[in-house]
Amino acid sequence: MKIRDILKQETPHISFEVFPPKTDAAYDSVLCATEKIAALKPSYISVTYGAGGGTSKNTVRIASHIKEKLGVTSLAHLTCVSSTKEEVHHVIDELKKQGIENILALRGDIPKDGEFPLPNHYRYASELITDIKSQGDFCIGAACYPEGHVEAEHKKDDIMHLKHKVDCGVDFLTTQMFFDNNIIYNFLYRIREIGITIPVLPGIMPVTNAKQVERILGMSGTVLPERFRAIVDRFGDDPKAMQQAGIAYATDQIIDLIANGINHVHIYSMNKPEVAEAIMHNLSDIVK
Ligand code: FAD
Repeated sequence: MKIRDILKQETPHISFEVFPPKTDAAYDSVLCATEKIAALKPSYISVTYGAGGGTSKNTVRIASHIKEKLGVTSLAHLTCVSSTKEEVHHVIDELKKQGIENILALRGDIPKDGEFPLPNHYRYASELITDIKSQGDFCIGAACYPEGHVEAEHKKDDIMHLKHKVDCGVDFLTTQMFFDNNIIYNFLYRIREIGITIPVLPGIMPVTNAKQVERILGMSGTVLPERFRAIVDRFGDDPKAMQQAGIAYATDQIIDLIANGINHVHIYSMNKPEVAEAIMHNLSDIVK
């Protein structure tokens, strides 16, 4: 099923995300986590893609397994920064062969020591989106950044680039993680004002260990509210308590989003079925 059709439904829905293994040896454990997440009957499951393209085979394999064997709609991420246009076309052909209808089209992070853009490569996700559109009837999602993308000097420019990207043929947007819902309410107001009217799925990251916090802090631009910092200060050294508090914080964010009329929320479940299960349990009378 195309995600743009799922998003027309006006009742609360949750989607989850898994990431493919870097090695074939870890494939079975990722599949096992994916199966448990699929059993929660999410609206769809997305499968991330290594920026270097190295996991492309497993992204396609897992997205196909989710759709064919687990009976859940899948969304395959596709990044283009480190692949030639021919390599990207090959992956699009594979997705088509496997009957995968939904692609999250991304540029990927620019490699630290690399020249950018290389000849015969895409420069921005918008170029990839135009190309995907010309290659088949895919439902296309793209990324957006309520706090601004790290490379953008001014939020205003970032939002104008987003408008151009959407106009290239995007069906829905998923946001970068955020920890203060006011940020997304503000962002939605700004993008609606310039005519971006497609559905936007807030991306919620349940932070369940202190290491994740270090990584988030490394992503410049992400604001950690005092309430969130207090949780990490108090429970960061106690893994079980941190997990419980992180799930409660994410649940709280989701309930507030749904209460404010946002029906579709995406959860960065990071191959952790126990976290996905706990959140769905907390929402059992809200997301039916
Ligand atoms: P773009 O939309 O191309 O934007 C990149 C930058 O270029 C922005 O600063 C933008 O303002 C600027 N820009 C865009 N168009 C123009 C223009 N015409 N002129 C000038 N400047 C322009 N990474 C992975 O490696 N694998 C994944 O699976 C993955 N999944 C993600 C899922 C989500 C929901 C999100 C939010 C991010 C994901 N990422 C993933 C990270 C993403 O690849 C990086 O954030 C990357 O740096 C930007 O990708 P993009 O598609 O948003 O790029």
